[in-house]
Amino acid sequence: MTATGSLINQTIGNYRVTSLLGEGGMGVVYLAQHPVIGRKVAIKLLHAVLARDQDIVSRFFNEARAIHMIAHENIVEILDFGQTTDGQPYFIMEYLTGESLSDAVNRGPMPAQDVETIGAQMCRALGAAHAKGIVHRDLKPHNVQLIDKADGAIHVKILDFGVAKILASPDGAQSVKTRTGSLMGTPLYMSPEQCKGAGTLDHRTDIYSLGVMLFEMFAGRPPFMAEGVGELFAKHMLEEPTPLLDFAPTAPPHMAAAIMKSLAKEPRDRFQTMEEFRKALVGEVKLAVAPARPGGPRQLSAAFGAQTLPPKASTTLSSASSEIDDESLGRPGRRKRLFAIAGSVAVAVVVIGFLVLPKDHPKAEMPQAALPAPAPPPPAPTLAPPVKKTVTIRFEADPAGSHLFRKKDDKDLGEVPVDVQLPKGGSTSEYLLRLGGYREVALVADPSSDRTLHVSLNKLAPPAPAGNDASKKHGAHHATTGGKHPRSPVDEDGLATPSF
Ligand code: ADP
Ligand code: MG
Repeated sequence: MTATGSLINQTIGNYRVTSLLGEGGMGVVYLAQHPVIGRKVAIKLLHAVLARDQDIVSRFFNEARAIHMIAHENIVEILDFGQTTDGQPYFIMEYLTGESLSDAVNRGPMPAQDVETIGAQMCRALGAAHAKGIVHRDLKPHNVQLIDKADGAIHVKILDFGVAKILASPDGAQSVKTRTGSLMGTPLYMSPEQCKGAGTLDHRTDIYSLGVMLFEMFAGRPPFMAEGVGELFAKHMLEEPTPLLDFAPTAPPHMAAAIMKSLAKEPRDRFQTMEEFRKALVGEVKLAVAPARPGGPRQLSAAFGAQTLPPKASTTLSSASSEIDDESLGRPGRRKRLFAIAGSVAVAVVVIGFLVLPKDHPKAEMPQAALPAPAPPPPAPTLAPPVKKTVTIRFEADPAGSHLFRKKDDKDLGEVPVDVQLPKGGSTSEYLLRLGGYREVALVADPSSDRTLHVSLNKLAPPAPAGNDASKKHGAHHATTGGKHPRSPVDEDGLATPSF
């Protein structure tokens, strides 16, 4: 069967085909109706050319069966599947009204509340699928339907589950890549590992693609756009995404931070589960954390999780430590290099309030009282050194006993809790929390206001197998505002030349 529409008025399953709904890469979708009950359904028939491939057919059915097993309210319901009398595989779905998310996105940026609702529903649905070992792999606004609800509430249904998986032959993502143009449509939402043609894709490809979609919902455009597919692939693989807040300054910072974290190049630097993603998106978890890939020059920029913790008055300003670096001295451009300091060991990265870092720091005079003597700030040839007030970043961690190290010179700042005083509005600074037997955590602090960072360290464990267990391997460090007070403030000697 190749001609679309030729099945009109014919019966498939118990339903009479009434009209053509559309045609996609996998097949043709018809509207059909039960002649007695009157129920409307959508019937998807596998393209005849694909139906000749027995492997594709069996995976088509396996997938339909699996999706049926998920039975999630935010995933299109599969009612039945079978083969037409002339052998064409089909499955019968609930008929979805409303509009596709792509129509909604095309009208422009969406309100934060809608993004949160849609994002949370998608996280739950995809999390349920992942728990059953099913990865979507072709998430895009076109595959998400926003259902008309009588009460006006948004209700998401995810479509085309497992299509990319079906399309990919067992030799892996190479086929995804080579077939992209003809079968998968736009690669705007593809993960770096998909673009790369990685042999094995896991559920974290969906985390990236969902991040692209949520980015677009806020910004009105996806993070990467290009003339050609190759350029787009390259951008997904190599280019740091522009911070979402640059496009959507009014987006809630915690949502922007969550979305940016989901766009990390390396799967291990993203959220490891959809539930982690959801919690960060809706603000249930107050700090996003990403384990960093050793050695990679770019992953830190994409791997940040950010959380603006509530400003907190410090009682130890006068005796707390101070730092200054090039950017706070009016030499911009260092921030990018900060992200190139991937350590040689696997670390977890916490960025505190990164997204609220002002792009252009006000240039003013540094109050002398705030500067530790005697080292003067390095000369800035054209710009006068800015004046800063200081902020205090308090580091806390559990379990007890961890030490805070300054990343640039590995100086031990003492056992936490530790207060570090930094020039207000200066550039971010990096620290490491270390405790024997626990995973080292890198902390990137944005000194835009006083903050308290509380980190729960993760025990070092033998590597877990890949796949859904990855969340255990790279468990999140939940950070909360802490109420503990440091035993003694650190007298950090500051003013060292930044090493990044
Ligand atoms: P595409 O590659 O465009 O997603 P599909 O084969 O998935 O192709 O779908 C073709 C058309 O049928 C799309 O416009 C889609 O919105 C519509 N469609 C798919 N499933 C359903 C459904 N369950 N209810 C209503 N419309 C559907
Ligand atoms: Mg579709």
